[in-house]
Parts: sequence; C-alpha cells; structure tokens
Amino acid sequence: MNAFLKEKHHKIREEVRSFAEKNIKPVIGEYEANEKFPEDLIRSLDELNLFGMQAPEKYGGQNSDYLSFIIAVEELARIDSSVAATLAAHNSLGVGPIMEFGTEEQKEKFLPSLCTGEKLWAFGLTEENAGSDAQGVETKAEEKENGWVINGHKKYITNVASKISTGMSLVAQTGIRDNGKKEFTTFLVSKETNGYTTEYMKNKLLWRAADNGMVYLKNCKIPKENQLGERGQGIKIMLKTIDSGRLSIAAMGLGLAQGAFEMAVDFAKKRKQFGKAIAEFQANAFKIAEMATKIENARNTLYNACWLKDNGQPFGIKSAMAKYYASEVASEVASEALQIFGGAGFFRDDEYPIERFFRDQRLLSIGEGTSEVLKTVISRSILKD
Ligand SMILES: Cc1cc2nc3c(=O)[nH]c(=O)nc-3n(C[C@H](O)[C@H](O)[C@H](O)COP(=O)(O)OP(=O)(O)OC[C@H]3O[C@@H](n4cnc5c(N)ncnc54)[C@H](O)[C@@H]3O)c2cc1C
Repeated sequence: MNAFLKEKHHKIREEVRSFAEKNIKPVIGEYEANEKFPEDLIRSLDELNLFGMQAPEKYGGQNSDYLSFIIAVEELARIDSSVAATLAAHNSLGVGPIMEFGTEEQKEKFLPSLCTGEKLWAFGLTEENAGSDAQGVETKAEEKENGWVINGHKKYITNVASKISTGMSLVAQTGIRDNGKKEFTTFLVSKETNGYTTEYMKNKLLWRAADNGMVYLKNCKIPKENQLGERGQGIKIMLKTIDSGRLSIAAMGLGLAQGAFEMAVDFAKKRKQFGKAIAEFQANAFKIAEMATKIENARNTLYNACWLKDNGQPFGIKSAMAKYYASEVASEVASEALQIFGGAGFFRDDEYPIERFFRDQRLLSIGEGTSEVLKTVISRSILKD
C-alpha cells in the first residue's frame, strides 16, 4: 500500500508487471547480449496503451496522469532497463515537449502516430561540447525564407537510430542576443529531412538493447512551422522537458532497485552455506532491511514529486531530488544485491539477471543531469535566499 496510489495505479502496475514477466523477461537477455534493439517487443507495448499515454485522447493518448506513466516505467525497469528506457524517453522526452509546447497543428500532425508505438520520437540536446552545460550547443539553425537550415550533430540520443525512430526535437543556436549571449531555439526535425543521418552507437556498457545513436545534420531544411515554441526559448523548453524526464529516470532507478532487491531476497533464501540459508546470517538480513528501506524512501520521494506535477504544483526541485536519490539507491541496491549473489552474480543468467542490473543502473546517475549537477541545482534552490 502507498498513500499516493489509487485503484487505477494498482491496475496499471498489475497489467505492466504481468506483461513484463510474461513477454519481456524470457527474451530480453538474448537481445541485450547481442546488442539488438527489440523492435517487435517494443511495438507490443501498445497492447497496454503505454505509448504517449499522458497525451489527451483526441491525439490518441490515454489522458493518464503522470504517476500512471511512472508506474509503467517502474514495472518495466523491474524486469529490464533497455525496454524501460525506450518507453521513458519516448513518452517524457519525445511526446512530452510536443504536448507541452507544440501548436495545435503540430500536435495533430505528430502525436497520433507517436501514441501507437508505430513511431518513436527523440530529444536532442547533447553534443560533443554540450553535456551538463546546455549552453555549449553548437548546432546552428539559420533562418531562411519559409523556414530554417540546420547544421550540426547530436550525440548519445535515445530512440534516434532504429527503424521505428522517426525524428527528434532538437535545440540549436539561432543567433546572438543584443546582450552578447547565445540564442537557442527548439525544432521538430523528421528523419525524412534531406541531410539527416543517424548511426547506432555500439559497444555500450549498459542499456544494450536500447537504441542510442549519433545524428548528423547537414543543410537540413525544415519548414517554419516546425519551430517548437517561441524563438529564443530553446534551452528553457529543453530544461523544462528534463524536469519531467527526470521523474522517469527516477522510476527506472526505483524499478531496477526493486527488481535487484527481489532477486537478492529470493537467492538469499535458497542459497545455503554453513548448513543454512545465507538470508539467516544477520549481515545479509540487515542488507535486505537497508535495501527495503531505501527503496521505500525512493518510492515516496518520487510519487510525491509526481503528485505535485499532476496537481499543477512546482515540481522541478522535487524531481531533481527524486532522480538523484533513486539513481543512488539503484546503484547501492544493485551493488549490495550482487554482493549477496557472490560469484553467481558475475555471469549472464536470464533467471537472475543481476549482472545486467548492476551494469544498467550506472547510467541513471549520469543521464538527464548527473548527480553532481543535481546536487548543485538542489543546493542552489536552498541557498539562493
Ligand atoms: C545511454 C545514454 C542515453 C542518453 N540519451 C540522451 C538523449 O536521449 N538525449 C540527449 O540529449 N542526451 C542523452 N544522453 C546524454 C546525457 O544526458 C549526458 O551524458 C549527460 O547529460 C552528461 O553529459 P556528458 O556525458 O557530456 O558529461 P559531462 O557534462 O562532460 O560531465 C562529466 C563529469 O563532469 C561532471 N560535471 C560537469 N559539470 C559539472 C559542474 N558544473 N559541477 C560539478 N561536476 C560537473 C559531471 O557530473 C560528470 O561527472 C544520453 C547519454 C547516455 C550515456
């Protein structure tokens, strides 16, 4: 039980959990080992109406609250992070900014196919010289008659290079303001645009069944109506998008920690040494108590931030806290769970994929704001007065 959850939240948890146990768990290890994007499996999430679920029904969404989406991501990450990352990025970073900043025409044009799993949409902020520092973006968009011409590149982008990826929202420099500062604007760029090419990034430590890629933009001409939001608001739009995106990274941390914890408990009850189950040694029982407490705290912090978002309250700092905390909890729990497995935790095992969970947690304290950057954001909000 949890004070934030209503009947509909329990229902979505049950549905996604059962789907993930039945359809994802048995096959994902093979995709991950071969670094293959599970296109059909991803599309099949549409059976649960998870794509763009937070969008209004008139665009093909479910009009769900954010907490329902977060629970869906949590349940996917309990079984596998690559699948969870694909849905989390698509809904929060792909569909999110179009819903929040798009014109009516843009919503009607882009959202319906993004709410079916037919197509994925990405979010391009990161570049060679723009990671934690979004102001480092060097991709440039030049205004021409009836539109824009974009040149540059984007790096590490989730959902950008698979067959079902269809484009991305990206931020580009659009000039220098009177005060000498750079001006940034956001654009919707479809993969059909001439000069737009992508490349899978292989040999990843983690999320090996997710699609992460490079995007190259060479004289990409896009129409005026593909500008997303107001000119000069690019960084603001991207940062606002990330405020919501961080909730889904936190959900990935929470779900991964829950999955690692359950594996550790199960293993500790079965594995016998010195004539008894290793769970009976207080050292291991205390690890289990510590893990359970951290997970409970991560869950409450995250659900509270979702409640604020769903109820129209400011939630940016709570989202930063939830993401920072849940990613650190995922790291600690995955590490302690691996410790409980001993040597058995070092090898691929599709029944107990603790080795994969140990790798997959590592991105969570880096993507969408590193823990260091989040602590800066949180402390500044406290110290500013
Ligand atoms: C698998 C994966 C998927 C991704 N998906 C996307 C995506 O879909 N879209 C997208 O735009 N990006 C994506 N990213 C990029 C991701 O958001 C960045 O990696 C992240 O923001 C960090 O940027 P960076 O890697 O350039 O590290 P850097 O910013 O270079 O940071 C390196 C180190 O320096 C520290 N550091 C930097 N600045 C400060 C500071 N001011 N104070 C203290 N410490 C600091 C950081 O905390 C970090 O430890 C993805 C990355 C990966 C690996």
